[in-house]
Amino acid sequence: MSTNMQFKGYALIDPSKWTDLQVREFKPKNFQPDDVEIAITHCGVCGSDVHTLTQGWGESKLPLVVGHEIVGTVTRVGENVKDFKPGDRAGVGAQRGSCMSCRACKDGYENYCPNGIETYNSEYPDGVVAQGGYSTGIRAHQQFVFPIPDEIESRDVASMLCAGLTVYSPLKTHGCGPGKKVGIMGIGGLGHYAILWAKAMGAEVHALTHDQGKIDDIKKMGADHVINTEKKDFWKDYPQTLDILLSTRDVHGEKMPLGDWLSMLYVHGRFITVGLPDTDDPLPGIHAMKFAANGCMIGGSKIGSKQDCLEMLELARSKKIKPWIEEMPMKKAGTALQNVKDNKVRYRYVLTQDLV
Ligand SMILES: [Zn+2]
Ligand SMILES: [Zn+2]
Repeated sequence: MSTNMQFKGYALIDPSKWTDLQVREFKPKNFQPDDVEIAITHCGVCGSDVHTLTQGWGESKLPLVVGHEIVGTVTRVGENVKDFKPGDRAGVGAQRGSCMSCRACKDGYENYCPNGIETYNSEYPDGVVAQGGYSTGIRAHQQFVFPIPDEIESRDVASMLCAGLTVYSPLKTHGCGPGKKVGIMGIGGLGHYAILWAKAMGAEVHALTHDQGKIDDIKKMGADHVINTEKKDFWKDYPQTLDILLSTRDVHGEKMPLGDWLSMLYVHGRFITVGLPDTDDPLPGIHAMKFAANGCMIGGSKIGSKQDCLEMLELARSKKIKPWIEEMPMKKAGTALQNVKDNKVRYRYVLTQDLV
């Protein structure tokens, strides 16, 4: 296997033209004994890519290659790496490094490490900028590299590594399973995975959507109930119903009736948001009374740990779960990104390698 990969990718040069990505070479991270190098074959298109490229989460580094749903073939492994060898299929999600020594890292919560290194738009301590997966290759610490089960195709697994994991982790953490009623709000890339996983985990699933054009799809994904959020005071039909309400919405707005939504939660039910809107779009104010009525809780979640990811992949393998995706060549990333921003994707784009 070649170890002299040429690293280049579709990079943001000018944020005012955020869909006009240009091919640029970049410097990969310095290869360390715990690193795995991967020649990328597929990369999913995540809402994070849009928020980053449009500068919605703040000024990004430039030039910048985004993409953090990465799958490919291992080309090189460091001397400490035992679980991968050249030729294996492997993937990287939204995180590529952490301190490996803090309490969170030691407890298997490396996704919450305060010094975690995100897959793109972050920087290694030596100053090398982390570039993402709309590119030829990536190097990452083995803890953040995932083995791909033989039964799952690369095109299918790519978007599991951020979108899938981001919803799998909170579903597991908050007890999704048989006998539980789970609400999924916002049926896009993340929400569609949340329906697939929650059903596979044995829960009764309520999908909440404002888009009536998605109802047939949602039922095919396996949701038991569809709640139309366009209906006035829709929450009043579901008092104290849900054990978990998982929101993937990445736009909030002052008028979002969060307090009313909480009335749908059963006693000690949890509202968990995994959608991360632009920095100028906080959650709305909420009165303490809204928590008292059912003793409910509000929280968040950040991607998932390696353990979560391995479990998720095993669930997908054993239950033969396939995501709803559309493939495009990597050079069409701009079109895919614009469609994600315009909410036209059904339900995830996966870019295929076209740089050689
Ligand atoms: Zn993502
Ligand atoms: Zn740490």
